[in-house]
Parts: sequence; C-alpha cells; structure tokens
Amino acid sequence: MALFFWLLLGALIGYCAGRKGRSRWAWGLAALFLSPLVVGIVLALLPDGDNSDGKSPAQMSGGTQEGRREERRCPECGYLADAGEQFCPRCGEMLW
Ligand SMILES: [Zn+2]
Repeated sequence: MALFFWLLLGALIGYCAGRKGRSRWAWGLAALFLSPLVVGIVLALLPDGDNSDGKSPAQMSGGTQEGRREERRCPECGYLADAGEQFCPRCGEMLW
C-alpha cells in the first residue's frame, strides 16, 4: 500500500512539473528515486518554468491536441516548435 502511495505521489509530481513547463519524466523519476516529499517541496518552491506568458496550457486552446505535448507556437510564422527551443527553427524568431 505504501508503494502505491509512493507511485501516486511520483505521478502527481510529474503532472505538476508538466504544468509548470518542466519535464514530467525527470521530476516524476526524481520523486520516485529520491523522495516525493522532498522533490515536491523543491518543485513547489521553484518558479514556473517556460510558461512566461502566464497562461496554463488548458487556457491556450479548446482543442484536443494542443496541451498534450510541450510546444510553443512561433509568434511570427506560427510554426509549432519544441518547448525547449529558444528560437523558431523556421524563421529564427525568438520564442517566449
Ligand atoms: Zn517562426
């Protein structure tokens, strides 16, 4: 039962990390291998990651596809770039 609780916390922390624009898998695994409590506190203390526009993924679209993957849409050409990209691969515009 304790193991189940542990896994649940790890999944929850992974989910929260994703909401903050951080890597779900890295944080989820860190929670599992270290301690969900410690990792959860660290995550809570960290500011939000790349979502500098202040919107949560759920607010960005009513569609079913966006929000599942971590992507950024280029403001210049509309290219859907990886969340880790600093500049648009197509036109070179800085991605916020
Ligand atoms: Zn672009």
